[in-house]
Amino acid sequence: MSAPAAALAAVRARVERAAAQAGHAVALVAVSKTQPAAAVRALAAAGQRAFGENYVQEALAKQRELADLTLEWHCIGPLQSNKCREVAEHFAWLQSLDREKLVEPLARHRPAGLPPLNVLLQVNVDAEASKSGCAPGDVPRLAAAVAAARGLRLRGLMAIPQPHPDPAQRRAAFARMRELFGALAREHPHIDTLSMGMSDDFELAIAEGATMVRIGSAVFGPRG
Ligand SMILES: *Cc1c(COP(=O)(O)O)cnc(C)c1O
Repeated sequence: MSAPAAALAAVRARVERAAAQAGHAVALVAVSKTQPAAAVRALAAAGQRAFGENYVQEALAKQRELADLTLEWHCIGPLQSNKCREVAEHFAWLQSLDREKLVEPLARHRPAGLPPLNVLLQVNVDAEASKSGCAPGDVPRLAAAVAAARGLRLRGLMAIPQPHPDPAQRRAAFARMRELFGALAREHPHIDTLSMGMSDDFELAIAEGATMVRIGSAVFGPRG
């Protein structure tokens, strides 16, 4: 087995063990920001299909190099309004929608020949001033806007809790997200995705209800 395939297999085994304990399925998105296209190709050869990118231009360059593969691209970084068209045209998922003014341009630019863009609302669960994500109280309004937009499909919520040194505090943030997700599911019963957990904390996130984890360094090695 190649080194990337071995790292991927080890992470998958951990995700699956945590998922079995939690009693629900968990999807793995490999976060390939700053990694070369060749590294993505190596993981794709090992069976990984979903990849997450933070920077739209970097993602588009990689997508062009990998156009011969069938991959599922997730935009997971903060989105500027002037990038809505590129995201609508070139990604399967947007995990970081955090304000209403992005909804109309995303919907308008989603090509009619593609399935709807899968959308997660990013929530600033720790109320950190410096981070992107909407306030928990804004979720219902934003969710209604996405649900009403043609070309977009509301799938759930995403969060990047503070990397708190105290696991109990991190776990509390994940638990708050689970509650928010449950409340949103009462309004929008079809939602199915709670994206939380990264290399350092994905097992904790899965125990608190994550159905999708976004993992970079644990599969690709440290970023340069
Ligand atoms: C970089 C990044 C990740 C992956 O982080 P690792 O610690 O390398 O697993 C996940 N989600 C987002 C939004 C990121 O920017």
